[in-house]
Amino acid sequence: MSNRKLIYLDNNSTTPCDPRVVEAMLPYFYEHPGNAASRNHPFGWEAEDAVDLARQRIAALLNVDPKEIIFTSGATESDNLALKGVFEMYKSKGNHIITATTEHKAVLDSCKKIESMGGEVTYLEVQPDGRIDLEKLEAAIKPSTILVSIMWANNETGVIQDMKAIGDICAKHGVLFMSDATQAVGKIPVHPKEVGVHLLAFTGHKMYGPKGVGALFVNRKNPRVKVTAQMDGGGHERGMRSGTLNVPGIVGMGKAAEIAMNEMESDTQRISKLRDKLERELTTRLEESYINGDVAHRMPHVTNISFKHVEGEGLMMTFNQEIGVSSGSACTSASLEPSYVLVALGLGDDLAHSSIRFSLGRFTTEEEIDYAIDALVKGVNHMRDLSPIWEMYKEGIDLSKIVWSEH
Ligand SMILES: *Cc1c(COP(=O)(O)O)cnc(C)c1O
Repeated sequence: MSNRKLIYLDNNSTTPCDPRVVEAMLPYFYEHPGNAASRNHPFGWEAEDAVDLARQRIAALLNVDPKEIIFTSGATESDNLALKGVFEMYKSKGNHIITATTEHKAVLDSCKKIESMGGEVTYLEVQPDGRIDLEKLEAAIKPSTILVSIMWANNETGVIQDMKAIGDICAKHGVLFMSDATQAVGKIPVHPKEVGVHLLAFTGHKMYGPKGVGALFVNRKNPRVKVTAQMDGGGHERGMRSGTLNVPGIVGMGKAAEIAMNEMESDTQRISKLRDKLERELTTRLEESYINGDVAHRMPHVTNISFKHVEGEGLMMTFNQEIGVSSGSACTSASLEPSYVLVALGLGDDLAHSSIRFSLGRFTTEEEIDYAIDALVKGVNHMRDLSPIWEMYKEGIDLSKIVWSEH
């Protein structure tokens, strides 16, 4: 075993489990093994009490009623349940759903499935800053529209939408509003009722809780929202999601919610300072570096930067033995595709391919950020030193005028 320290700056992919969360979960593996649905002995009651407490903590974080929280296996399932569940439940009212091109695949692929089931989906393009054009949204609503689904904060850029404005438009037209808030819950205040969100999807493992547990908020009053279950079985979770509850996972997610509520403000202050330092140092020490997305409406722990004329995947290889980040390219089958989110912001393939997403977290230290800054500066300079394109750029050749041969 090496004792080399790794630096984790990929908290948008998943957060480490807070040790206090792990501690809260442990008794529910062995000491309290009950099934929360066993109503006739103390083991079941203990498990049910633990689930109730977790439900209350999560509801408190969102400022909603505990009865409005449905436990699932994660945000992917919550997105599927919300979208397909609303589509099936409200079919008689209409078949049209509005979402955006920058949504997570869990939303986009659910929408694709809904299209194959006879639904109609509008995929709104976003503005270059990553935010929804509110006029375009309103113009897309028609009599058959039943649902608008817009994520609270984007996983790649951290851009936060104007949730209240979107909620107002949905309310005005009497359509349901769903949000994938996976990246926002536990990190910034997320109060769905205050902005007119009726369904809210989120997950434990992006808020310092365990993987494999998530939840869906479903508004119960004004309007009373219902979703058709996507899983048939024992009728758990008010009939909306059958299956034995993941008691240790739910306990952990509840603990994570409690910690988030108490520490969100201080976490944000500390982490955003580190993020700002990272961003400032990189963009001043490295010319031709560009921040992607609206910096005025952004999660406090995320920065997405393109280093022009540097290929992100190659850059990552200069430091990925020590630092974990994400690049703006995704390996789809055999080819390296630029991030569809960055392309939707209007970035060309070159800038999208040259982007790196840094997502800091509760356990990120200043020492780690200082180390990462130096490693990045070294890496980008190294890549550019080797790059004929960078050399041409430095010689003042207009690269946009060059016709590259296709191979
Ligand atoms: C991570 C993520 C998901 C998927 O969550 P899982 O719990 O891993 O299924 C969905 N939406 C967004 C925005 C995410 O960041």
